[in-house]
Amino acid sequence: MAENPIPAHRLYYESIMTLGNGYVGVRGSPEESRPGRSSLPLVLVAEVYDRPGRRPGEPRKFRRPSRLAPAPNPLPVVFHDGSRPLVPGKAEVLSESLTLDMKRGVLARKVRYRSLAGRITSIVTRRIVSQARPHALGVRVAITPVNYSGPVTLTSRMDGLPTYPDRVFQTQEFARAWDGETLLYAARTRQSRVIIAEAVRHSLTCGDRAVEGLPRRTDGKSGIGLTWRFEARRGHTYVLEKQVALDTSVRAKDPIRSVRALVAESPGYARLEREHAATWAEYWRDADVEIQGDRLARTAVRFCVFHLLQAASRCNAALGLSASVPAKMLSGPGYGGHVFWDTEIYMLPFYSQEFPDVAESLLRYRSDRVEAAARNAADGGCAGLRFPWESAGDGREECPRWLPRGKGYFRWRGGEQEVHITADVAFGFWQHYLATGRREFLRECAAEVIIGAAAFWADRARPGASGRNAVYEIRNVIGPDEYHSSVNNSVYTNAMARWNLVKALELADELQRTCPAAYGRLARRFGLTGRRLAGWRRAADGLKINFDSRTGLYEQFDGYFAHERQDIKQADVLLMLYLLPEMRTAEVYRRNFDRYHPVTTHGSSLSPCIHALAALDVERPDQAYQYARQAFSMDCVRRGNATDSGLHAAALGGGWMAAVAGFGGVRVMPDCLRVLPSLPARWRRLQFSVAYRGLRLRFDVTRGSLVVRADPGQGAVCLELFGKRRTIAAGQRLRVPRE
Ligand code: BGC
Repeated sequence: MAENPIPAHRLYYESIMTLGNGYVGVRGSPEESRPGRSSLPLVLVAEVYDRPGRRPGEPRKFRRPSRLAPAPNPLPVVFHDGSRPLVPGKAEVLSESLTLDMKRGVLARKVRYRSLAGRITSIVTRRIVSQARPHALGVRVAITPVNYSGPVTLTSRMDGLPTYPDRVFQTQEFARAWDGETLLYAARTRQSRVIIAEAVRHSLTCGDRAVEGLPRRTDGKSGIGLTWRFEARRGHTYVLEKQVALDTSVRAKDPIRSVRALVAESPGYARLEREHAATWAEYWRDADVEIQGDRLARTAVRFCVFHLLQAASRCNAALGLSASVPAKMLSGPGYGGHVFWDTEIYMLPFYSQEFPDVAESLLRYRSDRVEAAARNAADGGCAGLRFPWESAGDGREECPRWLPRGKGYFRWRGGEQEVHITADVAFGFWQHYLATGRREFLRECAAEVIIGAAAFWADRARPGASGRNAVYEIRNVIGPDEYHSSVNNSVYTNAMARWNLVKALELADELQRTCPAAYGRLARRFGLTGRRLAGWRRAADGLKINFDSRTGLYEQFDGYFAHERQDIKQADVLLMLYLLPEMRTAEVYRRNFDRYHPVTTHGSSLSPCIHALAALDVERPDQAYQYARQAFSMDCVRRGNATDSGLHAAALGGGWMAAVAGFGGVRVMPDCLRVLPSLPARWRRLQFSVAYRGLRLRFDVTRGSLVVRADPGQGAVCLELFGKRRTIAAGQRLRVPRE
């Protein structure tokens, strides 16, 4: 029999079995496991960041970035069979299986332990992080003594002060209490002073009867618990349910009161799970991607959708969270929970086209931090808004200036140089507007970000020489390819900056005509005068774009073609060509694809998905399929320890893009939704739906045809199906044969 891979790769399974609802994320660690080298139980809460202090011996220059603070862990449960506690290392694990039920959002685990005395116990757990009640979590632990009867103990704990593996404590105890069979623990972050409160209500039953006897309180240094002692009978199943409520002082004035009230109302594990599964059924009705003919792709794309909806869901919109999706979602300590361009470029297409209200909540995270973005720009001597390369709670730049290498540190310039993120964020706002057609959103949120970002570019781009036709340069940057730093005129950065300037000029012009009040506010804020806007136009027109019309090649940055290091980390020029169709012809796209894909190492998980999309655009279906398989399976297939510290959020978004924008051929264009499917040879059928400008459109792609159905409702939208313009109205169906 093949060796069970779970214990040896526990950290990997904990990441991929993470449960979450956008507000709370819980790694898939066993209830009985303790944090250590092979297990990292972690509960993370969106919005709760804290800046840990330096560790003794760390150099002064080493300022630790703010990061998500580990919340108290309410899940631990340890069973003692009368001879030993059943925990790894103290008892033998006879078998263990984990099942992630993505349809219902349930993590199920079965484990069989044998202790030294030969006692065999079966433990079956189910766990949820509720999508129906954003503050609720639930665990159900069913314990069956298989071959013995006798006195046993069962302990349920709350681990009050967990840490990341570096053992730096970010929280302090704020309150602890026992209230009958309810435990309460609150911790407070050290610097940001956020209180995270949790209450856990218990019930212990056997059959339909409560197990007799009151539990004893356990009072530890960094946590509290309850312990039941009872006579267990062979073959009987004892069920411990933990219903958890979690709240923080960011949301509630008195989070302790809030969790007490929430947990008192909690309807029992079975009903919690039913409600939660019903919400998942609603999500899947709209967001499912059904692939026929390719099992790996089918499961993997669903895995992408599942985790995207766990990282941000309707709970974000319902709670009005000011949070975005961290690069590792809420699934691990990687990158400290920082938010990168990953959200706007790689994940937003999913949210905008599936759950626009969720997308808007993610974009609000940026709008809420424009003051910090203005300070970031000013710190670098520029006007306008500069979004941080790594963003945490308050929108300041959190990218570490020093990174550990071997025994020392090296200087990393990402925070100063990966400025392309400012245009990426603006691009995300515009794309969301195109997908939804929401003009209020454009006026109220997007205009400020797009125009503010343009003000930054107009300053950051400097004329190389004076004169009317000056060439503008953006020097000292890092483009998407992080293998080359301090480069000049990264073509990705310059093209995105130019797009940003042009879009801002168009918007300014339109707002001036249609909404003078809104324009007036922005004009005051960013000092928009006729003269200044003329300067923006000059910068846009003059920005240096390294393009050789003879070869049709874009040069990634000044001197790249002559550079001794040619290998690149991830899609860079190709990403630009994918995002900005105006930068390409079919021939230019193909030539650049042939030039750049062979030198790309895919050292970033953000790379294969864009290569799949670009390969489809240049009509290389076989290559596209190979890249897409890599993109789909970035996390759901184990690759060394790459996923141990958390999922790759951008790759999960990119997996969805490869399926829907790639093989489904769905691209949001300025005036229509283009649909040009091309199925890989193995795929018999692809079904998915997207929301476009207020209409839910359901697509059914087979080898012979494309069928589109619009849900009942109101309105009509313009589609371009296989190159032909069609209008589809609510409730209508269109069928287009493939020619
Ligand atoms: C990539 C970046 C990305 C970051 C977070 C890095 O390895 O090069 O493009 O934003 O990871 O996912």
